[in-house]
Amino acid sequence: MNAPVLAIVVPCYKEEAVLPETTERLSAVIDSLISNGMISDNSYVCYVNDGSSDNTWPLIKEYHETRKHFAGINLAGNVGHQNALMAGLHTVKDKCDIAISIDADLQDDVNVIGDMVKKYEEGCDIVYGVRKSRETDTWFKRNTALGFYKLMRSMGVKSVYNHADYRLMSRRALQQLSNYNEVNLFIRGIVPLLGYKTDCVYYDRAERFAGESKYPLAKMFNFAIDGITSFSVKPVRLIFNLGLIFILIAFCVFIYTMYSYIKGAAISGWTSLILSIWFTSGCLLISLGIIGEYIGKIYTEVKARPRYNIESILLADENKE
Ligand code: UDP
Ligand code: MG
Repeated sequence: MNAPVLAIVVPCYKEEAVLPETTERLSAVIDSLISNGMISDNSYVCYVNDGSSDNTWPLIKEYHETRKHFAGINLAGNVGHQNALMAGLHTVKDKCDIAISIDADLQDDVNVIGDMVKKYEEGCDIVYGVRKSRETDTWFKRNTALGFYKLMRSMGVKSVYNHADYRLMSRRALQQLSNYNEVNLFIRGIVPLLGYKTDCVYYDRAERFAGESKYPLAKMFNFAIDGITSFSVKPVRLIFNLGLIFILIAFCVFIYTMYSYIKGAAISGWTSLILSIWFTSGCLLISLGIIGEYIGKIYTEVKARPRYNIESILLADENKE
């Protein structure tokens, strides 16, 4: 079997401070894998410039001109990490056998790329890079990430804990990923849905090499909301259930107010007022829940995700060539 062509996709937004070092390290990894015969000599790094206003694109152009294994895509404006990554994966999917996505900031250990390729050779279509610990992250980031992961789990979204967007995907996994046409992208939620054979490699996550995080708190929060609402209609069911609870409370309040009324302890007007508040709120919430359920259905239809993903087909004898 010929060695596979590897494409390393790196989204970059205002990364001029780290790009020279990233380029050196990725270059070294590619060279060593080529000399081991693990990947083809046509393998390359594909930088995706996500509308940076700094020197990122001129740098990428320079690497493309002066080095062998470097390619670049320049997006017309800033579209965010997930979209930039998707742009890169879409572009390389017909021009490689395997693609690895990695951030530009060198937080993920490039030395496990070799292990990822090995797992691919062993038959995996998707290999997740998973952090062993989060010691280099702040207490706040660690705990918000854990909370977010647990919340996602409870909403029924499959995702791999401590895995960001550092992963290997085979060509057919990339093809299948490109069938997910949704606009609100949360790639790490989609990949587990592909259903191919997967495995993990573990590494220590380092500090950002240089520059600043492009994910301030507000962006992280939006990302979390996107992650949940793109994959789950459970929040709508919560509204419905809340409505049921309200009706139950209305029933208890009914008994209580009747008791007070009979005992003569109630001020006139209070009984009917308090009852209608609980009862109508309950009815309103239930109605909202029902409407939400339909909107949820429309939402999943509009996303038009593929219904299934074929792993392999064994044809009957007469259909064989
Ligand atoms: N990034 C991007 N577009 C953006 C924001 C970030 O392409 O609008 C890239 C960024 O250059 C980096 C990756 O996404 O390669 C992850 O960003 P960052 O390291 O700042 O996030 P953190 O690791 O702090 O969550
Ligand atoms: Mg980072």
